[in-house]
Amino acid sequence: MTLIKIKKVVKYLLALIFHFSGFNYYHISKLNSHYILMFHRLDDDNDILNISIPLSYLSDIIIWAKGLGEIVNMTDLLIQKEKKVRVCITFDDGFKNIKSITKIKPNIPSTLYLSTAYVESEKKFWVTELETLILRCEKRSLDLTSFCLDVYELDTIQKKHIAIRLLNSQIKKLHPASIEAVVKYLRLILPRHINDNQQFLNWEEIEYLISVGMEVGGHTHSHVISSKVTADEFRKEIVMSNNLITNNTGKPPKHFAYPNGRIQDISVFSRDILKNHGYMSAVTTIEGPNSIEDDPYMLKRFNVSKDRIENPWGRPSKAMFTTMLVNPISVH
Ligand SMILES: [Zn+2]
Repeated sequence: MTLIKIKKVVKYLLALIFHFSGFNYYHISKLNSHYILMFHRLDDDNDILNISIPLSYLSDIIIWAKGLGEIVNMTDLLIQKEKKVRVCITFDDGFKNIKSITKIKPNIPSTLYLSTAYVESEKKFWVTELETLILRCEKRSLDLTSFCLDVYELDTIQKKHIAIRLLNSQIKKLHPASIEAVVKYLRLILPRHINDNQQFLNWEEIEYLISVGMEVGGHTHSHVISSKVTADEFRKEIVMSNNLITNNTGKPPKHFAYPNGRIQDISVFSRDILKNHGYMSAVTTIEGPNSIEDDPYMLKRFNVSKDRIENPWGRPSKAMFTTMLVNPISVH
């Protein structure tokens, strides 16, 4: 057994103890918190960047979440200030494959944070484009030192996975214009291919999703990280995104998700700009439950990836899910 497998088994055994002893349920019902779950892609494929989950897993999560409390969208969570366990299902970015949520019946309230530049476009999200370009690359290494990045070894699939994760975290530190330059360069030197799973929703599909219970929030126009741009650039992104959402759905967005969403990605000016442009909440990717007293512009979320809720034998596990929410010893 590899070390990774042993770690997974230990994590799972701990999760079973916390779950079946009632510890997790006791903790969740005592705190009466709000749990905002973050998803990106509904996809069965291998999940290198921890942003995909199979639809069947989401379906299980919804059943488990209903067992803990009520599932609501962000508007209901914010407007009905109730101290009871509530769960929000949120999707970031607007990938086409989230349409498959409509296969789960009855309709589930959810919130979609849309990066409007990608709607109806064949444009690739740089995160997924990098992933595809590197996976398809036949070079043994990739030298990006001229962009103040590194040299990446690509001669095995494991090294490609490491390179994707590393490049993904390094490139986020650059200004959006520099990110675009790196991606353009990679498009020139690496072969391209179209993958349906990376395509984005169009407005017609978004309207259909709204008709079955999804609400649309903002995620900037071109997915800029607010701490990497000026206040003016951020404001322009918000105005553009709000106009597009309002014109296409008939409703201005009320909820926002900070792209990348860690504390260092959120600039001091973003809250005022969001408030001035009609947003009543903003979610981060900082992990944890929220209470009704918490700042509505710094709400925490759980990134629910396949890896985090799977048992060592590759099946979704309720014990892993409740242990992720409670995180009793900070290993989940
Ligand atoms: Zn995003």
